Amino acid sequence: MPFFNIICVLCEEPVEHSQPFSLCKTCQSDLPFIQKHCKQCGLSLTTDAVLCGQCQQNAPPIDYLIASLWYQHPVNYLISQLKFQKNLIYAKILGHLLLDTLQQKKPSLPELILPVPLHRNRLRHRGFNQAIEIAKPIAKALNLRLDIKSIQRMKSTPAQSRLKAKQRRSNLKNSFSLKQPLNVEHIVLLDDVVTTGSTVYELARLLKKSGVKTVGVWTVSRA
Ligand SMILES: [Zn+2]
Ligand SMILES: [Zn+2]
Repeated sequence: MPFFNIICVLCEEPVEHSQPFSLCKTCQSDLPFIQKHCKQCGLSLTTDAVLCGQCQQNAPPIDYLIASLWYQHPVNYLISQLKFQKNLIYAKILGHLLLDTLQQKKPSLPELILPVPLHRNRLRHRGFNQAIEIAKPIAKALNLRLDIKSIQRMKSTPAQSRLKAKQRRSNLKNSFSLKQPLNVEHIVLLDDVVTTGSTVYELARLLKKSGVKTVGVWTVSRA
C-alpha cells in the first residue's frame, strides 16, 4: 500500500500525524508567537504594563485585541500564499494557529464572530474572503455563530498599505454599513492581519453606534 505523507508548506518535510494542518511541529514552534502585547490594541510592550502608553492616553474604539503572531517572516509569506495564490490550505493553518492561541488564553466568548468584509469588487477578484476562511475552523471549534451578511463594505478603498495613518482614517470613513440590526452585546471582529487598526476601529465605531457594548478583535497577526 502506498502511504502518502502530508508535506509541510514551509520545510517540505513530512508533517506529524497529530498536526491538524500542513505545517510541521518544528516550523510551528519557530513561528514568531506574540508573548506580550497591549491588551487593547495589540502593540508590543516592553514593560509589565497591561496597556500601551497610547491606549492609556487615548483608548481605541475596540475593547481588546488578541493576536497569535507578529506579522514577520514566515507569517507574511503564509498570509500572502492564502490571499494571492488563493490556496485555502493556508486558511486552515492560520485558523488553527489563532484557535490554539484562543484555547490557551481562554477569553470570554462573543455572541458572534464577524470576519472583516471585503468590498464586492475585491471579493470577485480574489474569489473568497480570507477572513471568513480563517474564521471557519475557529467558529466550528468554539461553537460560535459566524456572521458574514450583516455588514457590507461600501467603498472599494485603495490598498491601505500605501497610505499614511491619517489618510487611512479619512479613507475609511463611512466605508462600512450595517444591513440589519444585530441585537447582540458582544462581537468579535476577525482578520488575517491588523496593521494600523484603522479598519477594525472603523467597524467597531459603527457597531458601537448601533448598540453593541463590547467589540473585540481576534487576528492571526499584528504588524
Ligand atoms: Zn516544516
Ligand atoms: Zn495599546
